[in-house]
Amino acid sequence: MALLKILTYGNKVLREKSKPIEKITPELVELAKDMLETMYDAPGCGLAAPQIGRNIRLVVIDTSIPDEEEPNPYIMFNPEWEPEADSESVVHEEGCLSLPGIWGDVTRSSKIKVRYTDINGNPQELSGCEGLFARCVQHETDHLEGQLFVDKVSAADRAMNASKLKKLAKENS
Ligand SMILES: [Zn+2]
Repeated sequence: MALLKILTYGNKVLREKSKPIEKITPELVELAKDMLETMYDAPGCGLAAPQIGRNIRLVVIDTSIPDEEEPNPYIMFNPEWEPEADSESVVHEEGCLSLPGIWGDVTRSSKIKVRYTDINGNPQELSGCEGLFARCVQHETDHLEGQLFVDKVSAADRAMNASKLKKLAKENS
């Protein structure tokens, strides 16, 4: 296990579309476990492969409350989601390990279905996902499209964070 370096805003890897994973290899499972360790260390509740410099469709998520709940890690290869029929639009504040010190309100689907491949290569489906977990899945899969939450915040939130974003981008150029 090893801690990985988390890339920050301005690094062009974060803006590229990630490739589907065709075969779950031991190397990829090891990488996913390192991503989980890196996420817990940060600390954060989700991490996508582009954030550690790999443009592949892999995300890790654990939205359990540290020190209060048992860890509940998910490793998702090729994750996809769709809103459930009774999903609504909900606004909540988000942050991102690749955007330290930046926060903003993002509108997301409240209730989703998630499909992914697990570390054994088996297809998985989770229905009726809600709350922080549903939000996290949407945030992390956005990373696989090269999208960041700051692309989706209101003009007011963007203006409020403009100087911080500019500073981060400059550090990474
Ligand atoms: Zn993020």
